[in-house]
Amino acid sequence: MPIVYHNGRFIESSQAIRSIEDRGLLFADGVYEVVRYDNGRPFAMRPHIDRLKRSLGGIELPGIDCEAFGPWSDELMVRNGLKDARVYWQVTRGDTGPRSFYIPEHIEPSITLIAYPAPPVDRKAFPTSGGAISADDCRWTRCWIKSTMLLPASLAKTKAKSAGAIECIFVRHKPGLDAHHVTEGGSTNAFIVRDGELHTHPNDGWVLPGITREVLIDAAHASLGMPVREVCFTLEELKQADEVFVCSTTQLSPITSIDGHTIADGNPGAITTKLHFAYLDRIFDQQ
Ligand code: PMP
Repeated sequence: MPIVYHNGRFIESSQAIRSIEDRGLLFADGVYEVVRYDNGRPFAMRPHIDRLKRSLGGIELPGIDCEAFGPWSDELMVRNGLKDARVYWQVTRGDTGPRSFYIPEHIEPSITLIAYPAPPVDRKAFPTSGGAISADDCRWTRCWIKSTMLLPASLAKTKAKSAGAIECIFVRHKPGLDAHHVTEGGSTNAFIVRDGELHTHPNDGWVLPGITREVLIDAAHASLGMPVREVCFTLEELKQADEVFVCSTTQLSPITSIDGHTIADGNPGAITTKLHFAYLDRIFDQQ
């Protein structure tokens, strides 16, 4: 039975009981993070803690000691005997009494950490590629908050899976603009390579400020000497791109088609592949 961290205790997951009136359940009133551990070491712990703080600020949930999530995660890995895992952190506002829209002043947030085992990464393996489908980005406007309100992404990703695709690509019609822009993937940030430049949606609130996104922007500059532009692009521009990929803490995935339209020659691009290996280098070279 896996051990989880739940409100101050390391316990078997079956013992981790959550109130039926937890606001996380009733109002999706919560935020989360996912941190990767490879060979026993966490990657990018600081940015994850900082983003958790920002997300908690975004939902106006004060009083959480975010610095404790690092040591809790380390201990969870040890207690579960894991070296490779994705550690899920969740903070909800907790049970505040009978269901009410109004948030009382006194709250007892609920904190849960779960370590999901992952296979050890083969540093020489090429990334897994696949097709994507486009989906209407019907999420709220505060996509910079890593909210547990993931139903739009869950529905769109399920549709993608049924279509044999590996990701959905969200397209948003932003107020005041004629164009529909690609924002990001259902659970990933999206990049295109165009005329030797890397393009990704700006960090302006319409996308999650992905930690992998930052690592790859830096790797593109530092390791590949490549210009990176944080600019909006349309679905049509994505279709015409030289390369497309999506990325998240778990992986970087080349996208070889979108809505049945083949991208370039239908193979993972050379720059995408280099970035995949640069990402793995960053993960392992910190060890
Ligand atoms: N965008 C969305 C909507 C996501 O859900 C995620 C992963 N949770 C990402 C981007 C990638 O973020 P990160 O690189 O920090 O995992």
